[in-house]
Parts: sequence; C-alpha cells; structure tokens
Amino acid sequence: MTDNVTSNRETMGFQAEVKQLLQLMIHSLYSNREIFLRELISNASDACDKLRFEGLHNSALFENDSELTIHVSYDKEAKTLTISDNGIGMSRDEVINNLGTIAKSGTREFFTQLSGDQQKDANLIGQFGVGFYSAFIVADKVSVLTRRAGENIDQGVSWESDGGGEFAIEMVERATRGTAITLHLREGQEDLLNGSKLRTIIHKYSDTYRSAYLDEKGGMERQHTASAG
Ligand code: ADP
Repeated sequence: MTDNVTSNRETMGFQAEVKQLLQLMIHSLYSNREIFLRELISNASDACDKLRFEGLHNSALFENDSELTIHVSYDKEAKTLTISDNGIGMSRDEVINNLGTIAKSGTREFFTQLSGDQQKDANLIGQFGVGFYSAFIVADKVSVLTRRAGENIDQGVSWESDGGGEFAIEMVERATRGTAITLHLREGQEDLLNGSKLRTIIHKYSDTYRSAYLDEKGGMERQHTASAG
C-alpha cells in the first residue's frame, strides 16, 4: 500500500436528467423536506443489510467489527448534518454509477408521476422513495466519504456536489469502512441542527427503518468531513 497523496480530484458531469431532477426535487418536495432523513437512513440500512449478506460468505469484510450501526450527527457551527453507516460502502466506480446517474433508482418514475398537488405528491413519496438526491432539498452541498468493506484504507472515495450539474470525486484514505454523507445545510434549515428535532424525525419513520443513533455530541464525527476538500 503506497501513501500516495498526489491530488487525483476529478470533476464529472451528472447524467443529463439528474440536473433537471435535482431542481424539481428541491422545488416540489420542499414542504416534505423531512423525508431526506428517511431516505438516507434507508440507504444506510440497505448498506448494512448488504454487508451482512456478503459477510455470510466472506467474514473478512467485517474487518473485525461486526456491529453494524447508523449514526446521525450534527455540527451547529459548521451547519452540517452527517448520516454515517459502517455497511458495505462503495468503490470509486460504484460511487460514479450510483450517485451520478438515476437509471437504477425509483427517482425517475417518481417524477413522472408528480401532479403538483402537495397532498397527492406527498403520498407518492411514500410509495416510491426518492433516494439519495433528496439530500439537496435541505443541503446546498453534499459530501460523501466512503470505502468499500474489505478494501485497503487507501481505497476511500470522496464525492462532493452542490447539485448544480457536476460532482467532484477523489481517492482518499479512509480508515473506517462504510459511508458518511454530510449535508451542508441551506440557509433557513438551521432548525435541523437540533437533537430533539432530529429524534422526532427519526422516530416518525422508525417503524419502517432500522433505528439510527443520534450522536448528541454534534461535532464528534467531523473527522469524516475533514478531508473532503
Ligand atoms: P435507490 O436507493 O432507490 O437505489 P438512491 O438514489 O437512494 O436510489 O441510491 C442509489 C444507490 O447508491 C443505491 O442503490 C446504493 O447502491 C448506493 N448508495 C446510496 N447510499 C449508500 C450507502 N449509505 N452505502 C452504500 N451505498 C449507498
């Protein structure tokens, strides 16, 4: 394993439709903004399930840490919210495919069904799920740090986007497997930087999704965001 610190940051464009969807998402789902947390916790939960499944055949993937958890933390000063899991994580190619295109997700279908009627549209959200991009309802920048389970620590990947049509991707060192998604909150979203508010949102969906732990210490997980830029 070499300690290669030369910059390998690359900027790539989203699939054409993604940009359009992001704009639609921000405008049409604003009144249901809380769903972003359900979507991100749901993805984290899926990532833990995938590791549990792949780990049945290859226990090395657990890297001596088989307790699978999801944490939600916030940093009032930085105005960030971080959802992290120690699930399967993503390789560089997986990040590009999964977070740069919408081909696979239910998002596209969801948007074709939108009526513009808030009540009806809110029901659709429950039916389809709108996925990762819902983060941009409340965030004007999203940073992802991830490493696939079982890979070397120099196989970490940093992904960052302001939702404007491009994303930046870079290989980084990441000691822990799994994924941390940091939302840099838009102006006016600061009320989310509050333990009881977040707990209420998490509990609202806890019957459907594996519970996430709220990290009350706020800044504790800042190291996950430090190397993103
Ligand atoms: P969907 O969950 O409907 O497939 P999303 O847009 O929410 O669509 O996510 C796209 C893909 O990105 C997921 O299918 C998954 O492969 C990957 N992904 C998202 N979040 C995570 C995560 N926390 N850990 C690992 N992979 C993830």
